[in-house]
Amino acid sequence: MALWDILGKVTNQPIHRLLGGKLRDRIKPYASMLMEEPEKLQAKLQSTMQRGFRAFKIGWGPFGRRDDAADEAIVRAARAAIGPDCELMVDAGASDAFWPHGYKWALEKSRMLANYQITWFEEPLRPDDIDGFVDLTRNSPVRIASGEVLTRRQSFLPWIERRAVDYLQPDVTKVGGLTEQHRIGQYADDHGIMMVPHGWNTGIGLAADLHLMATAGNARWVEFLTPEPYMDDVFETPLKLDAEGFLAIPDGPGYGFKWSTEGIRRLSQGISITESRI
Ligand SMILES: [Mg+2]
Repeated sequence: MALWDILGKVTNQPIHRLLGGKLRDRIKPYASMLMEEPEKLQAKLQSTMQRGFRAFKIGWGPFGRRDDAADEAIVRAARAAIGPDCELMVDAGASDAFWPHGYKWALEKSRMLANYQITWFEEPLRPDDIDGFVDLTRNSPVRIASGEVLTRRQSFLPWIERRAVDYLQPDVTKVGGLTEQHRIGQYADDHGIMMVPHGWNTGIGLAADLHLMATAGNARWVEFLTPEPYMDDVFETPLKLDAEGFLAIPDGPGYGFKWSTEGIRRLSQGISITESRI
């Protein structure tokens, strides 16, 4: 990831141009947060909405870990908090080591979620249950997403070729960097599968996603973990959403961002940092 930034800086080109050129000037970030009890979650969603976000993903927490009524109460409260016009995604988080449910739970839950205009249902099955995902993607009334724990492009091939998901979620900080992520995204595009990069990482991961997704025909969102110091404090200037809740694709050399050495030093527990001169 650093090498792509260096290449961009040395050649004075944004990474999206080195990858072949951008197809869009902006993309919608979705605010990604853990589920909480309904009232607390509503307050969190509304304050995030006030910061300009128009798409939200709620995940993990009590969902699937208590009972059906609690799951629905959380989703109903979230939809009520953001209104009918914002996008809402639900992440069961079945890569949890102690995930108790299987295919029938996931199918029934997807039918409940369809009543709340959910954009996608994420990790509703254990992350290696490819046969379960193939069946669920075929039968669920809402779109199915997964892939955040897979690494290397080879792991994604059967998921793409078997159409095991509607939305594929590789994480650029896990799969092996921008080259690997770009190849996964293009292969998914060739098979008509959407790419939604997993971004539960840092602002540097977000910067990479902005450039990659700018070049991808099969992309519509980037994940934006918030509030989160590893996201907010690594940028020298805080990222600003436009009036419709989109983020601009940077056009400066490399990632096109100025990093906050102070923020990175703090988050790295005092690691010594030498600033680049290019
Ligand atoms: Mg997830």
